[in-house]
Amino acid sequence: DPRVTRIQSLVRTIADFPKPGVQFRDITPLLADPEGLADTMAVLVDMAPDEVDVVAGIDSRGFLFGAPVAVAMGTGFVPVRKPGKLPGPVFEEAFDLEYGSSTLAIHQDALRPGQRVLLVDDLLATGGTLGAAVKLILREKAVLTHVETVIELPDLGGRAKLESLGVTSFSSILQF
Ligand code: 5GP
Repeated sequence: DPRVTRIQSLVRTIADFPKPGVQFRDITPLLADPEGLADTMAVLVDMAPDEVDVVAGIDSRGFLFGAPVAVAMGTGFVPVRKPGKLPGPVFEEAFDLEYGSSTLAIHQDALRPGQRVLLVDDLLATGGTLGAAVKLILREKAVLTHVETVIELPDLGGRAKLESLGVTSFSSILQF
């Protein structure tokens, strides 16, 4: 797929960010490129099932991809946010980071039981972040139809983590 080749060429690797030893996959050149940006949204839509009622995206890079995909699919968008950002009653899920922990939150009334959700983020590494978002969506009694990211780091075991939470459908555009 020539679109994937272009997308890959627009992800920049920055060594030792945010700390020594980490190879950070920087998507800002991809966002800045008109064709690369359009191709990314088109491939994310192609990978998704047709039967989606709503797209959820994770704070903050998941918003950049999730909202345009929702527009393209003709659905609404639900943000999964960092703590303290959502004004109404929320469900919260804590998860482990490499050092320490973090929390994600969703409005309790963001999803209806049975709604078919497409979950989008920029990158799957250990799966801690997406795993917390999966748990929040399942707490809403919604149906998680598919999870997708632009980038996957397969060596970090994120897919297995998602499978352990019951995710049966995952795809990514690029693996590093
Ligand atoms: P995980 O929770 O799967 O270990 O890490 C994934 C989360 O960390 C994603 O929300 C993603 O935004 C962020 N992340 C981790 N490493 C990278 C990276 O190399 N590049 C980018 N763009 N995000 C990363």
